[in-house]
Amino acid sequence: ALTALIEKQVPLNVWPAEMFRVEEPIYRPDLLLNQAFVNGAAIQASFARGLAETLAELDASHLRGRGGAGFNTALKWRSCSQQAATPRYVICNADEGEPGTFKDRMLLDLYADQVFEGMTVCAAIIGSNHGLIYLRAEYLFLRDKLLAVLQARREQGLLGQAILGHDGFDFDIEIRMGAGAYICGEASAQIESLEGKPGIPRTKPPNSVVCGYQRKPTVVDNVETFFAATHIAIQGGQWFAAVGTPQSTGTKLLSISGDCQRPGIYEYPFGTLVRTILQDCGAEDVMGVQVGGPSGTFISNRELDRVVAFEDLSTAGSFMVFNRSRNLFAIAQNFTDFFAHESCGFCTPCRVGTSLLKNQLAKIADGLGAAEDLAELSALCEVVKNNSHCGLGESAANPILTTLLSYPELYLQQLQYREFAPAFDLDATLA
Ligand code: SF4
Repeated sequence: ALTALIEKQVPLNVWPAEMFRVEEPIYRPDLLLNQAFVNGAAIQASFARGLAETLAELDASHLRGRGGAGFNTALKWRSCSQQAATPRYVICNADEGEPGTFKDRMLLDLYADQVFEGMTVCAAIIGSNHGLIYLRAEYLFLRDKLLAVLQARREQGLLGQAILGHDGFDFDIEIRMGAGAYICGEASAQIESLEGKPGIPRTKPPNSVVCGYQRKPTVVDNVETFFAATHIAIQGGQWFAAVGTPQSTGTKLLSISGDCQRPGIYEYPFGTLVRTILQDCGAEDVMGVQVGGPSGTFISNRELDRVVAFEDLSTAGSFMVFNRSRNLFAIAQNFTDFFAHESCGFCTPCRVGTSLLKNQLAKIADGLGAAEDLAELSALCEVVKNNSHCGLGESAANPILTTLLSYPELYLQQLQYREFAPAFDLDATLA
């Protein structure tokens, strides 16, 4: 049924416009979504200032990748520009597959020019002629709109030959569709997929800035990163760095969903308290929040004074709220099933381990678990986390580990009618 919908280009999960909460009470003039923008402004500003100086502004901004890993963007662009090999490539990672994340879809839908302009500024800095946007299969409904935006930019002289009259600066962007694999959100797996191969993460080093698409130097950045870079190119690094925390400058778009009265997409300065965000979205009787999607961190209602920032709660943009009516054990089970399904199968700890985790949870959920099963579950989590080849496997056990840490009683309840349930020693297991 999903394939049929995609083939018919029926929009999936289309939220009504009023769910984009970028207005009061969080309207602030320093938020990126509120910045005025004229097509070509970032490109013009970059050439007027000088490309090396624009890279220095990016440095001063301390912009970190918004895809989750938080790598320093200026460092990545500079490193790519210094590679001797050519051609070089710019890839926009629009494979927004983390459950609960939908903010890139909004940027591509409403702010595509600003995303493409960030890619163009990147191309000018690293010396690239060719950009690709890897659009997730479920966003097929956006493709025609994005193609129209690209065509309009060509007609405005913002893509193509001698962009805005700058001889020698030729750059264009093509759209490539993903095929629905979560793992292709990982940069090196995405490059493999773009080359027509199965999306299996590469062994690193070398990193993609050295050996990326077609084995050439490549910058892969998230949609939101390019969007932010556009505004830094226009307004400068200090303007950007004035917001947020020293380690996490600027703002973060959050896709807020779950048990709250006002779900939607919000933009917050890094360093904002989880408690504040929950108040804004109208969440009550909260039991916990899954920050960063299933691969991120679950926090209990005792941790609401933590902040969204790379140094505390890092997130690519997913913020799922659960109230006390939810069965968090079942949610952890759902997330674990997801990882078992999405494992690419390349390495044994993840391929076998995620299935074992899934089976172990199912056994406990069915009332067939003993205390030893919880201990085995925890040990298995560590094996999968510490021995997998890529981030999917490294984070696949997070839903279990974090909920077990916050609410061990939920797991113990599954064993409640087993006489040896109290024998389970959580502290010893987690130690
Ligand atoms: Fe594939 Fe999982 Fe191994 Fe990553 S950790 S390479 S997704 S099997």
